Amino acid sequence: MKTLPEQDDLLLRLRDFHSDYFPRNQQRFQDLVAHGQHPKTLFIGCSDSRLVPYLLTGAAPGELFLVRNVGAFVPPYDGSHGLHGTTAAIEFAVLNLEVERIIICGHSHCGAIKAAYEGVPEEAVALKSWLKLVEEALLPVQPGPEVMCRTEQRAVVLQLERLMEYPFVRRSVEAGQLSLHGWHYVIEDGEVHVFDAEQGAFVPSSVASHSGTGPYQPYVEHDGQVIEGI
Ligand SMILES: [Zn+2]
Repeated sequence: MKTLPEQDDLLLRLRDFHSDYFPRNQQRFQDLVAHGQHPKTLFIGCSDSRLVPYLLTGAAPGELFLVRNVGAFVPPYDGSHGLHGTTAAIEFAVLNLEVERIIICGHSHCGAIKAAYEGVPEEAVALKSWLKLVEEALLPVQPGPEVMCRTEQRAVVLQLERLMEYPFVRRSVEAGQLSLHGWHYVIEDGEVHVFDAEQGAFVPSSVASHSGTGPYQPYVEHDGQVIEGI
């Protein structure tokens, strides 16, 4: 092994992964290669470094199909053939992988929401356009901590509404094959608040009755069998 420049932390961590974590979990990775990935969850989260989906959900490799972007935004469905990374990932997750749930995860102290209120550097032209995806959620008041929190939560609900405009998402949700989950992660409390459509509010996970957004009507199969709690 060559000696490393001391400051190359990243290379040291790559070596640790290979020599420590991987041998302990080798079978799992080999199974995921042999049988392919079958994640049940599409997680659309903000790119913020403090949001760590695997820590929050306790997920293992192979369990989350991840899309991350600035703000955890969902572009409007327009059926266009442009280079839409987030839209392509949603199509892949729902139509190819047939995931059973989609999580939209925003968070406290979100830089994207702050930038939407305060503006971005002149040169950040793509970011400026991207932030238009949250314009409808902004409040016409001076942004303080309370307004920021409310806007972050409104942004999550807005993205859920946009998701339902994707025809294949709506179809799967209405068929009871796909559930939507709107989450607001409060970093300083270590708690996710779950949007409950029936209450029209975000409920802390410590007291929420469901991780999903609902409303969860009992789903009636063609043969008349009723399945609760989808
Ligand atoms: Zn953010």
